[in-house]
Amino acid sequence: MRQLSDTTWVLEGPCNIGFIVNDDEVTLIDSGNDKEAGRKISKILKEKNWELKNIINTHSNADHIGGNNYLQNMTNCNIYTSEIEDAFIQYPELEKAFLWGGFEINELRNKFFYAKKSKVTNILRVNEEFQNDLEIISLKGHFLNMIGIITKDNDVFLADSVFGENIIDKYGLPFIYDVKEFISTLKKIEKLNARYYIPSHGQITDNIKPLVIKNIEVVEKAKQQIKKIISSRKTFETILKEYCDINRIVLNGGQYALVGSTIRSMLTYLADGNEIEYIFDTNQMLWKTITV
Ligand SMILES: [Zn+2]
Repeated sequence: MRQLSDTTWVLEGPCNIGFIVNDDEVTLIDSGNDKEAGRKISKILKEKNWELKNIINTHSNADHIGGNNYLQNMTNCNIYTSEIEDAFIQYPELEKAFLWGGFEINELRNKFFYAKKSKVTNILRVNEEFQNDLEIISLKGHFLNMIGIITKDNDVFLADSVFGENIIDKYGLPFIYDVKEFISTLKKIEKLNARYYIPSHGQITDNIKPLVIKNIEVVEKAKQQIKKIISSRKTFETILKEYCDINRIVLNGGQYALVGSTIRSMLTYLADGNEIEYIFDTNQMLWKTITV
């Protein structure tokens, strides 16, 4: 546990978890991977003599809501999140259906894609204050309606709007739902002027600029790679294969769904920017870069 101020703590791990503490009452920011994360949080609460009142979920991905079910059963705590994300949290089968684009293959039926369900008790709206000391900001892009939280000490929980250097170096392009929003959120973060920046996956930092640049660069690199791949007409499957070959990504069912979804979003982004186009040829959807 790292203490950032008299009210803000972060349990650092594969998914950083925030503890906002007021009079021994805790508002959690995300709940970690799974039941194990829930147990770990619950142990900390006991040791510190804190009472869990609320969980704020920044978005509905399983690695951010995995502890919800366990903690809500134990403490009957409130769960807050934004609209749309609330649907995925309450009906987690939407997550695997969304990622697969149909009824999911067996490889997606596990805790990485399918968290246990929990009850969202309240909806948070952007630019509203939460209990007079937390400000809710929109961080769309990585997922449909992701939010971030600014504390009264001006520390900002960034969820998955920006990824740590080690994550980008290891995995390359992160999961992105809406590329245009992802980039405009990164530009927004850069202007925040916070004291500490807390990405969910990455180190806490007081200077977010290098990380913002790195995240924008990885998107730009993928964009150029994709455009090069489709200098001649190709199907999505071929684009995905060639993209993975170039970047030494080895696909399995789960990676196919995650990387595949991001590549599809990249294709939409490039098509919306009139940089690429698709045609249907003998029932094949073929993508190609527009040359001027
Ligand atoms: Zn995440």
